[in-house]
Amino acid sequence: PTDDALLEVRNIEVIYNSVILVLKGVSLKVPKGGITALLGGNGAGKTTTLKAISNLLKSERGEVTKGQILYRGERVQDMLPSDLVKRGVIQVMEGRHCFEHLTIEENLMTGAYTRGDGRAKVEEDLELVYTYFPRLKERRKSQAGYTSGGEQQMCAIGRALMSRPETILLDEPSMGLAPQLVEEIFGIVKDLNEREGVSFLLAEQNTNVALRFAHQGYILESGRVVMDGKASDLRENPDVKEFYLGMS
Ligand code: ATP
Repeated sequence: PTDDALLEVRNIEVIYNSVILVLKGVSLKVPKGGITALLGGNGAGKTTTLKAISNLLKSERGEVTKGQILYRGERVQDMLPSDLVKRGVIQVMEGRHCFEHLTIEENLMTGAYTRGDGRAKVEEDLELVYTYFPRLKERRKSQAGYTSGGEQQMCAIGRALMSRPETILLDEPSMGLAPQLVEEIFGIVKDLNEREGVSFLLAEQNTNVALRFAHQGYILESGRVVMDGKASDLRENPDVKEFYLGMS
């Protein structure tokens, strides 16, 4: 990763239903080429931060009431999610993995819809996704709703890749998955970062695994960043060990 921030969140406040203050001045930077972990317990504000960035709060009656969100120095907080996709930023949402009634391959193809380039390019990217996720190739004709949770998570990441993103906002990829699959998915995230240069902002409750794969991290508590730094430093920090890594 470089020092240049691709994405910068500056002191944002988010309020739901005009009254509930959930983010109380969150600032963070996602450097180009890095994996940045956004950590914290249930309800700390991780998902809200990601949704604020990709402008997905409106349907939840949420609103950014203070601060700024910049991508490559450009103010993006009033843009449609699709405008952000055009700029290279895409969100993989927690839980809502795939369109259940479409096949895996059809799901992947829906990820290419914002692109103006031809069929050949799209086919090429489909092959690229299958190189990273051989399981998706095996299951490509299967209806997504009948594949496993792990395969659906892979499908969601694969679909995001089809938009040729520069940055992926990945919400809780480990959610509900067996440890071995979590390792597999994080391993692929790392490969995508290293070989394709995709930058990641990764919201995770699983601090342990996230800090092993990320370069840097931010820890949120009740809507505030309480700690941040290099992943290796956070792993060694006594408070992080005690409160987040389950050892003292
Ligand atoms: P999780 O791991 O559960 O997703 P999180 O860190 O992502 O946790 P958020 O989902 O961002 O946390 O939630 C932060 C706080 O905002 C919580 O207290 C939650 O109850 C509240 N919240 C989330 N969505 C809404 C909403 N649509 N309306 C009102 N409050 C909300």
